[in-house]
This record gives sequence, structure tokens and C-alpha cells, in this order.
Amino acid sequence: MERTTVYRARTIRTMNPSLPVADTVVVRGSRILEVGTAESIRPWFSGQTPEIDDTFRDAVLMPGFIDPHVHPALASILLPMHWITGVDWKLPGRSLTSVRGQNEFLNRLTEIESQLSEGEPLVSWGYHELWHGPVSGGLLSRISNRRPIVVWHRGFHSLYLNDAAMAWAGITREDAERHPQVDAERQLFYESGMAMVLARLRSYLLAPERIKAGYRAFKDVIRAGGNTTIGDMAFGKIGGEELEWQLCQETFDESTPFRVQMTPVGIPFGADSVDIPARMAHLKSLRAKNTARAHFGKSVKLFADGGFFSNLMQLHWPGRIEGQDGHWITSPELLRQAAEAYWDAGDVIHIHTSADLGLELVLDTLEHLQARRPRFGRKLVIEHLGVSTPEQIQRAAELGANASVNIYYVHELSDRFYKCILGYERASQMSRLGTLTRNNIRFSLHSDFSMAPAAPLVNAWVAVNRLCETGKVMGELERISVEQAMKAITIDAAYILGMDGEVGSIRAGKKADFAVLDSDPFEVPPERIREIKVLGTVFEGKYFPNSF
Ligand SMILES: [Zn+2]
Repeated sequence: MERTTVYRARTIRTMNPSLPVADTVVVRGSRILEVGTAESIRPWFSGQTPEIDDTFRDAVLMPGFIDPHVHPALASILLPMHWITGVDWKLPGRSLTSVRGQNEFLNRLTEIESQLSEGEPLVSWGYHELWHGPVSGGLLSRISNRRPIVVWHRGFHSLYLNDAAMAWAGITREDAERHPQVDAERQLFYESGMAMVLARLRSYLLAPERIKAGYRAFKDVIRAGGNTTIGDMAFGKIGGEELEWQLCQETFDESTPFRVQMTPVGIPFGADSVDIPARMAHLKSLRAKNTARAHFGKSVKLFADGGFFSNLMQLHWPGRIEGQDGHWITSPELLRQAAEAYWDAGDVIHIHTSADLGLELVLDTLEHLQARRPRFGRKLVIEHLGVSTPEQIQRAAELGANASVNIYYVHELSDRFYKCILGYERASQMSRLGTLTRNNIRFSLHSDFSMAPAAPLVNAWVAVNRLCETGKVMGELERISVEQAMKAITIDAAYILGMDGEVGSIRAGKKADFAVLDSDPFEVPPERIREIKVLGTVFEGKYFPNSF
């Protein structure tokens, strides 16, 4: 018979509204036998007092956290880069201090450049014009005209190359001028232009030792945040399916204390057309690969407008204070065509949507799909939800959409976007969780790591307080309760991934997945939620203390 363990904790927050608080949980093998009190569990022990495991006596147990939107391959490309960021970052084993201003940014790059060995390219991540001022290929060539320098934007959707990096990637001035998503003058590559550079530098960025080290670092990031389930929300997009699957199998082995729910891309990255029946048959074949740690559901990822951090999102009038227009990642025609096919096949559609014009397209598409073939339950998830209007949220509710939200935008971007891009009204109301709650839309919080720290308590802290990095509260009526925020990183995040029958709360029959915390998010002052320490996680009944 499987081993049975009785854990007593200071408090157990089950996230099951029928029994929200308990202090004892019984685990048999990988599952929860019962949660309750030392008294209520006795029938499992023939009425005798069972032996108690006191490992968690002083700790608070919650369901293992769920980050339903990350990108293991993308994170693993970025983690080995040189990070130069506008806000502080904490990663397992290292803390990064913010770098601000154009001079400081260029000085930091110069400093890193001087420390690299001969011939080693300099690839940095974290640059953002709102913190670091303008850069260009020309400016980067002044740091070095021999060493390739790649400045990858904090939002990932764009990058700059110096002259040596252009040569390294085999991209001529004429190639750049001909490409619709390249600013040849500044040597700025965005969206499909960025995808072209990624493809050209593939043998470096995805070199086996480099990418494997990235995957291992990513595994630590996920563990440290208290996550026991994650969603790969664009499987195959970055490294290609074969390589991503191989790395996933190698890295997320039996010793890994989390599982990955895979959502493949519905349209391969950078494609301007797709043979949808062939693609659908292929996605179906992926489901045969399912393992204990990696599982393909019946879900697919599509993309509407450009990235939010990169300021490539599609905005309705009045648009931007100044500067560029937004972009579509997938043309509206192709998006509609693909959405129709996946909808008819009964797949859950996750759509990357950054701003209100993108959301309008998604809602028009959903209305068309619902008129064509009504569907119930979880069927379409709006991913990110940077800028939206209250009326769009009401319409999303009427059409039965769900949402998975990047709330960290508020912390890092709201003050900067207020002054430079959106004005106060729209910037202070970005990622409007209060409106989602008022419209009864079920939503999760995600990190889209490294768009936000993969630390659900940090994201919940932003959701509850809406404190911008400058210390201002932005959009206080869009704040949500602690209860709502905790649901969004546990049971509601499980729902968004279609896994709420298995994980997301602590109740009899579910997987024994817990986040082990040093204090209770429901009891600490809300502004201190991000300071709560994750002591470790229990994954399928086994304890993994944090050593970070
Ligand atoms: Zn994403």
C-alpha cells in the first residue's frame, strides 16, 4: 500500500470555499486523502490517533501555485544573456540592481564588453527606451565595431544589432531595408523582423550547452516561486517543436517538482499562411507524447496585436501621445480563419492580446464564432489584457471569454506609459482586474516570464495593491481582494489550464501539491504579500525545500 502521511500546519488555506481553512492534511502517495483537523481525519486510522509529521508545524500551506503562461524555451534563451534592466530583479542565487538612463545603460554595456573574451558575442536583455533612452545599431557599433552586440528589448518582441552583429547574422543593409518589420536606419528588428534574427542566430542562442543551462536556470526560477504547475503558452514557437520537446524531456525529469501543460501555437511563428487541416492533424499527434511531467491538452495559442512592453500593441483612438503605430503579429484575416477552424474542432483558444484594438478584433471574432456554433464553458482565454475598456470587458463576459492577465504591467509600466504613451486615465487602468471581477469573468494571473517575475505572490501583491515602481497607487478601483488574487494564482489558474479537477485547491482526491509559506497571505498586511517567503513546495506528495 502507498505511504500515508499526516501533515499538521500552522494554517492550511485550501482555496476550496466549502472548507477554506484547516490545519491537518493527509497525503497518500501523490494525492490528498483528506483535509480537516486531527480529529476529523481519524476514521482513516481506525479511530486511533495517527502519527503526525510536523515538518510544516510553523508554516502555512496553500495549493501549489500555478503560472499558466510562461515560455520555457524563451526564458532559457534569455536567462544566459547579460541582464541590464530598468527595475531590480531577484533570480535564484542572484539579485540585479536597476540601471537607468542612456549613459548608465551604454556604460554598463561597455563594461560588460570589456570583460568578454575575444570573439564572444555580447547579447544583453532588458533594454527599454523608457528607462534607457534611445539606442541604435550605430550607437552600439561605437562600443565595439568588431564584437557582435545584440540588445534584446525587455519586451522580447524587438532587438537592435550593431554592425558586427548584422554581419554575424548575415543580414545586409538591403535585407533590412526590404523587410516590412525592420527599421534599417536604427538596425531595429521587431516582430517578424526579430523572428528572422532569431532564426539566423539560432546556432548560437540554441547551442546545446547554452540552452541546457538556460533550462536548468528556468527550472530553479519556477521552483523558487512556489509553482507546481505551469503552462507553456506557445510550445514550439521559439526553438521548434522537436528541440523544445527534447529539452523539456531532459530537463523536466522525474526529479522536477512541477508539471507543464503544453499549449502549442496554432500558426507557426512568422508564417503568413498556414495549412490548417495539416496543422490540426499534427497538433492531435502531439497529444500522444504526453508524459507524467508534460501534457498536451486540447488547446491552442494564437496571437493578435504586438507586445505590450515593446509598445507594439494596437490601440484604439486616441492611440499614443506620440510615436509609432501598433502592429499585428498575425493578420486579422489569418487570425479569423485559424480561430474558426480551431473553434469548430472544439479546442480551447488562448489569444495573445495587448490592447483595446487587438481586443476588439478578438471580441468580434468570438461573436462571429458563437453565432456560428455556440460553445459553453472554457473556450477562449484572452492572454495579457494590457489596455481594455470597461465595455469590452462586459462584452467579453457576455460572450463567455476568460482571461489570463499580466498584472506586472501596472507595477513596471503604468507610470512610464502614463507620461510617454497613454496618458493617465488609460495607463492607471491597465490590466483591469477590478472590472473583470465586477463582471464575474474568471481569470488567472501569469508572469509570461521574463515579462514578470515567475513569483505568483509578487504578482498577487501587484493585483491587490496596484503599486507602481515609483510608489504610486495606479487605478485603485481596479484593485482586487486578497481572496480574489489568491484564487487567480491557484484554483482559477487551474481552471484556465483546464486542470481544476486535479490541482489548484487542497481537497480530497486532488494531487498533493502545496506551496509552503512562512506567513499567511490572508493575514499579513496586503502591502507585504510580496515579502512572504516560499520555504519550498510539495509536489505529488514529496517535499522539495527551497535552497535558493
Ligand atoms: Zn507569452
